[in-house]
Amino acid sequence: LQSKLPAVGTTIFTTMSALASEKNAVNLGQGFPDFNCDPALVEAVSDAMKSGLNQYPPMVGIPSLRLIIAEKIKKLHGYAYDSTTEITITAGATQGLLTAIMCAVHPGDEVIVIEPAYDSYVPAIKLAGGKPVFVQMTLSADGYTVPWDQVSAAVTSRTRLIMINSPHNPTGSVLSAIDIAALTDIVRDTDILILSDEVYEHMVYDGLVHESVSRHPELAERAFIVSSFGKTYHVTGWKIGFVAAPAALSVEFRKVHQFNVFTVNTPVQHGIAAYMKNAAPYLELSAFYQRKRDLFRAGLQDSRFKLLPSDGTYFQCVDYSAISASSEVDFATWLTSEIGVAAIPVSAFYSTPRESGIVRFCFAKQDETLHKALARLNTI
Ligand code: PMP
Ligand code: GLN
Repeated sequence: LQSKLPAVGTTIFTTMSALASEKNAVNLGQGFPDFNCDPALVEAVSDAMKSGLNQYPPMVGIPSLRLIIAEKIKKLHGYAYDSTTEITITAGATQGLLTAIMCAVHPGDEVIVIEPAYDSYVPAIKLAGGKPVFVQMTLSADGYTVPWDQVSAAVTSRTRLIMINSPHNPTGSVLSAIDIAALTDIVRDTDILILSDEVYEHMVYDGLVHESVSRHPELAERAFIVSSFGKTYHVTGWKIGFVAAPAALSVEFRKVHQFNVFTVNTPVQHGIAAYMKNAAPYLELSAFYQRKRDLFRAGLQDSRFKLLPSDGTYFQCVDYSAISASSEVDFATWLTSEIGVAAIPVSAFYSTPRESGIVRFCFAKQDETLHKALARLNTI
């Protein structure tokens, strides 16, 4: 069989989690919490199953869940999506991203990808026959920022889509209103679409605001917004999320969605909808994770790692160049095998070999897990 993705192997997350488990390392690599979700959420899903909500739901997701998402976006960001025609429930953000790319990108279309970028973007673009055009984020004392002049210069008549991700995996950077204004200027008077990955929407620190594209109508009118319940409710294994997009885009999205997964499992949809009616824990999520970020950063303050800013997400990047000149993959492997703490090499988020001496840790962990990892990292 001729491979459609010849350059793709097994994802770094799978590889590092397997190594962490083999070496009995503290796994700060793959991004997922090591604590459970709210028992009330499990109860709500189990109630749905017990009451017989176990057959196919509507193709686009159950109405009550779509409605509550639309209401939440309106309340938080001001944009009024029609829950009937503009919100679709997906099997996690990964499927939302793939489906959005499959419906928007035609063979030969160019898609601007800002690197480092989440690892699913480029394979999805290639499967659609698109051509990724890369712009690298700039790293300075302020952390990683997007050079919008370079994004602007990368636009051609073939540009179909610009992908953005804020809060950003792996760098933890957060786009500001100034960034959004720069992007708006670039796409104004073009037919370029935006794919905005907002899975970490409820994890922003130090009083920053998550500049959802849905706060900016001029962008929202041409955007697919992708989010994930896995991140917001500590249930990454449930693989459920949603895509919000104007009706004309959602029509095309749904055409692909119905033959991609058709629909997403029923009891989890009902459980989340019932839970969201009674609780809004996402309002406290930033404070919850900011405390963990601060604990983790304080624990590395006197180590030989240099901390980069982390303004959002549950990731902390560190520069290890004072410790080692190894490649990021070799360093992360050594850290996992010899020190007993797994990390993710940032080079895994670039399409071409690139070394910056930086690895990513995930701090979505119980305090005792973080303390255990910190004790080990401070022996280096
Ligand atoms: N986008 C980003 C930036 C992510 O970090 C992740 C998950 N780690 C996803 C998308 C995929 O989310 P899901 O697990 O809901 O498919
Ligand atoms: N998004 C998670 C991360 O960045 C991992 C998801 C996955 O394992 N594919 O760590």
